[in-house]
Amino acid sequence: MPTTPDYRAMLAIAVEEARLGLAEGGIPIGAALFHRDGTLLGRGRNRRVQEGDPSVHGETDAFRKAGRQRSYRDTIMVTTLSPCWYCSGLVRQFGIGTVVMGESVNFQGGHDWLREHGVAVVDLQDEACIRMLGDYIAAHPEVWHEDIGED
Ligand SMILES: [Zn+2]
Repeated sequence: MPTTPDYRAMLAIAVEEARLGLAEGGIPIGAALFHRDGTLLGRGRNRRVQEGDPSVHGETDAFRKAGRQRSYRDTIMVTTLSPCWYCSGLVRQFGIGTVVMGESVNFQGGHDWLREHGVAVVDLQDEACIRMLGDYIAAHPEVWHEDIGED
């Protein structure tokens, strides 16, 4: 039987992406798609600000970078933040088996819904993730509210 993947090490890649985004002036949310054997398939970050494209979320960016996969059942979407509805929809559409999130304090997306539909969801409650996005929201509330689609 395979051992439990090292979720913290996987999260570190997503955090690296979030920090890159922050350095670019963007919203610090990063993600990475792994095979459960630990192979990194793709990594990405929210680039709403950088590219003026609201469809580039961390998860969708990592998913696209991973290219075509035969099956997603044995993949793990690792993201610094609870996935929004758009990204939760992606997880269900493609049958991604596991979601690992850095935190669900600054935002709660569709992770309970994913659990209800059989997706394994792990919340690492990572302090660095909570602080990084929390600081960003405090400094740029207007960009954040635009990102989550609230007035
Ligand atoms: Zn999203």
